[in-house]
Amino acid sequence: MKRSLEERLKDGTVIVGEGYLFELERRGYLQAGSFVPEVALDNPEALKQAYRDYMYAGSDVVLAFTYNAHREKMRIIGKEDLLEPLNRNAVRLAKEVSKEHPSEEALVAGNISNTNIFDPEDPESKTKVRGIFAEMIKWCKEEGVDFINGETFYYHEEAQIALEEILKQDLPAVITFGLMGENVLRDGYTVEESCKILSESGALVVGMNCFRGPETMQPYLADIRNNVDGYVGGLPIPYRTTEENPTFFNLPDGGCSCHLPLETTFPTALDPLYHNRYELAAWAKEANDIGINYIGLCCGASPAMLRSVAEAVGVKTVNSKYSPDMEKHFLFGTDKTLQEHNQSYRLKA
Ligand SMILES: [Zn+2]
Repeated sequence: MKRSLEERLKDGTVIVGEGYLFELERRGYLQAGSFVPEVALDNPEALKQAYRDYMYAGSDVVLAFTYNAHREKMRIIGKEDLLEPLNRNAVRLAKEVSKEHPSEEALVAGNISNTNIFDPEDPESKTKVRGIFAEMIKWCKEEGVDFINGETFYYHEEAQIALEEILKQDLPAVITFGLMGENVLRDGYTVEESCKILSESGALVVGMNCFRGPETMQPYLADIRNNVDGYVGGLPIPYRTTEENPTFFNLPDGGCSCHLPLETTFPTALDPLYHNRYELAAWAKEANDIGINYIGLCCGASPAMLRSVAEAVGVKTVNSKYSPDMEKHFLFGTDKTLQEHNQSYRLKA
């Protein structure tokens, strides 16, 4: 028995683990900068383990890691010949892992995203973008995905093209935006206007992912929720973004330059700017309370963070048996059989 995305949304909140780009980079299997998911071919076991880690942490969806694996990016790195095998393999590995779920097989989503060649003034770029999406969706469909997630769009029109191409191939669509620091999409739409249009045009879920932490994403999620009748998704990054610096692209580390090779902490020196898992859980509860239906985390998220998010909205995950419990800790525990001399020492520890 495997419920569809729509059935799961009807039944309650759907949890989605994302952030493979940062996670595989952190684990050492992907290059920061070009950020191409060659890991699907080079180190399939590493990718499968990351898929598994998020699924066991509560993700209902194994999102095939093809972010950035589009024709334009593969051209830039001179590996266009790997385009199709990489896309197909990322989905195949996701399917293998999805079947390992001990209670209900996870959903598998194909992934398309911002192409970075979309230019609202250039019709040729739009044709190219359409072709990029169409071929990736076709491979996903042939490999048997359950739906397509089009994400991190910062142009309304590019997202609209993505949606049209997904619907042409009869797959359910989740469309989410990455909202830059100007607080509107780059072709002038507010994110709630754009989401309303896409929801009414047939997207099953609309919303936001990446770029922003909970603090600077939540107000826009509330606006989207107020404007859209359909399902809404929110997947922030787990960093402490602020009104002054609403995205992780320009998030300073408390004025410290800390040997940075770049002017920014993005993408490889964001570590001191993390939210803790309890803050993320508090956000998830708030999002769930206002009716956000598709909840997760994006770049930077760890499986333990995702598990806290899932548990905050009432989901018991496969790995909830490993959720924190300090009862037996030698300093902080409350178990009666612990050593008294250690416990009285805890304030000095
Ligand atoms: Zn992300």
